[in-house]
Amino acid sequence: MKLVFIGPPGVGKGTYAQAVSERYGIPHISTGDIFREEARKGSELGKLVKEYMDKGLLVPDDLVIEIVKRRLQETDCRNGFILDGFPRTLPQALALEEFAKPDLVLNFIAREDVIIERLSGRRVCANCGAIYHVKYMPPKVPGVCDKCGGPLIIRRDDRPEVIRERLKVFHEQFTPIIRFYEERGRLITVEANEQAPVVIPRVLSILEMRFKESPRSQSGK
Ligand code: AMP
Repeated sequence: MKLVFIGPPGVGKGTYAQAVSERYGIPHISTGDIFREEARKGSELGKLVKEYMDKGLLVPDDLVIEIVKRRLQETDCRNGFILDGFPRTLPQALALEEFAKPDLVLNFIAREDVIIERLSGRRVCANCGAIYHVKYMPPKVPGVCDKCGGPLIIRRDDRPEVIRERLKVFHEQFTPIIRFYEERGRLITVEANEQAPVVIPRVLSILEMRFKESPRSQSGK
């Protein structure tokens, strides 16, 4: 089950990826997470990619492709994977066709007002990083972290004007990728305006239908 998940910030992609990962025992691989982790560790790779990330630039294709290729060779990917944040350019999409052609690409969409409500309600603990939502996952005491008592803040990224800019960048980057998979008949668009308990079963049933073994292969012929 080789999957690619595409979706704007705030669409809930990480939550759906986690559910699919648990259901099918395949890893959720986010290139952004790999790069942030390397940057945090201060590895050679981390230092290199940090320069691009800090400037808001894409990491060069050759480097990203090599990292993903290596990651997909690890044993936990033998039954498949969920790629998130990759491919982001056409050369990346073409390279992926060669070394691990995706079976299916899920393109998550949600209305802009839904996304803005989700992201602008998000609060992060300045001390321990725990995440809350003023409406959907409120802390016991407003503005105070349940776990460590630290102050809850709004990330700069989650301010409505910054969210609109992030959505614009997302559409610029991913529209050609969405078209790429659409043209190849491997894209399914999934509506994600509702909360996760509604969207997760929708995602799982799409996968179940798509990856159900055919009667032929079940009978072993
Ligand atoms: P993300 O968390 O997916 O938004 O990724 C954070 C940052 O990592 C991006 O702004 C890029 O600098 C870098 N990055 C992640 N994935 C890719 C990719 N597929 N190609 C190039 N750069 C990437």
